[in-house]
Amino acid sequence: MNILVINAGSSSLKYQLIDADNKNLISKGFCERIGIEGSQLKHQPKDGDVVVIKSVMKSHADAIKLVIDSLIDPNHGVISSTDEIGAVGHRVVHGGEYFKKSVIINEDVKKAIEACVELAPLHNPPNLIGINACEHVMPKIKQVAVFDTAFHQTIPYEAYMYAIPYEYYEKYKIRKYGFHGTSHKYVAQRAAKMLGKPLEQLKLVTLHLGNGSSVTAINHGKSVDTSMGFTPLAGVPMGTRSGDIDPAIVFFLIEKEHLSIEEISDILNKHSGVCGLSGVSSDFRDLEDAANNGNKRAEIAQDIFAYNVRKYIGTYSAIMGGLDAVVFTAGIGENNSQMRSVIVNGLTYKGIKIDPEKNKLRGVEADISTSEASVRTLVIPTNEELMIAMDTFELVGK
Ligand code: ADP
Repeated sequence: MNILVINAGSSSLKYQLIDADNKNLISKGFCERIGIEGSQLKHQPKDGDVVVIKSVMKSHADAIKLVIDSLIDPNHGVISSTDEIGAVGHRVVHGGEYFKKSVIINEDVKKAIEACVELAPLHNPPNLIGINACEHVMPKIKQVAVFDTAFHQTIPYEAYMYAIPYEYYEKYKIRKYGFHGTSHKYVAQRAAKMLGKPLEQLKLVTLHLGNGSSVTAINHGKSVDTSMGFTPLAGVPMGTRSGDIDPAIVFFLIEKEHLSIEEISDILNKHSGVCGLSGVSSDFRDLEDAANNGNKRAEIAQDIFAYNVRKYIGTYSAIMGGLDAVVFTAGIGENNSQMRSVIVNGLTYKGIKIDPEKNKLRGVEADISTSEASVRTLVIPTNEELMIAMDTFELVGK
């Protein structure tokens, strides 16, 4: 069965058509500048050249129509009609406490996604628009919602509650939700395959390290804690996000710098992390170059990032009472061998030791541990779209 995976943003829409029977990608692409002048679609059949289609897309419904037209186009298309699309899987960022797993979309599901808009005001509205647009264009095809937060709904209360007055949890549902759940779940499943053991028998720490980064403790296949929190601002320092800080810094800065709520939010979300620390860039490639050219702050920024990730590995292996494997994924985790090495440096006492030769690998699945390491260190390229397709197939196809 072919599954169309949709990831709708405010002015963009990414898609992949995946054959769920053999997990093969058939085509992918994205629409940009939806609702803005100069909108275009970039469509790529597997093994084919990218086709750029410049066309007015006033709405997400226009974008979906264009995606379908490209998929069935006689020249660059990959299927002959929409009958060859078995179901649509949507990435939805926030499922709040409503969704513990992926679901087939109906009116109640849409209402619950709407109710979570307050928790993800930038993401849930376009996700919902994408769902409505697909329903409009393909009314007979089943739609599934796959939530970034769902995998973390198994986290116990002692890990998800904040020690603030309980009424704020009751009134506003302020608690840890966690994000990147689809990615953490995907790499955990792959890790179990690579280790040749059932996921239910493993203790894993998965490191999704990209522009946004999060660390998750996965005990016997279930997320038991994760570094992001009520929002994706918490946890390890990121490209431009601060990660965990003393909340009193916020009041202090507001007072000293006469900042508005919007300004302090901008500082912590867009001007902090390794970018704010280094003054160079949010991109770790730039940091590495700058540090190699003697830029001290770029070096310090990378050290602070590595230190915090290492701290989470220690904390999470402590709460799980052991550790079988550490898994690196996403842009930095998959490609930055130097950062991988710095992160696990000093964890030999825990049985984590990587082989410098094997660690040179990038962007492929690999066990980079030394033969004597008792805790395996794995590199696993993430594939959130495939995970969405497989969840959708699971619900609709079988
Ligand atoms: P996003 O969270 O936006 O999906 P990514 O997962 O693409 O981010 O991660 C972006 C980070 O990954 C950047 O800091 C970049 O330096 C690093 N990165 C991505 N690709 C590579 C690569 N091929 N080599 C080295 N670093 C990379």
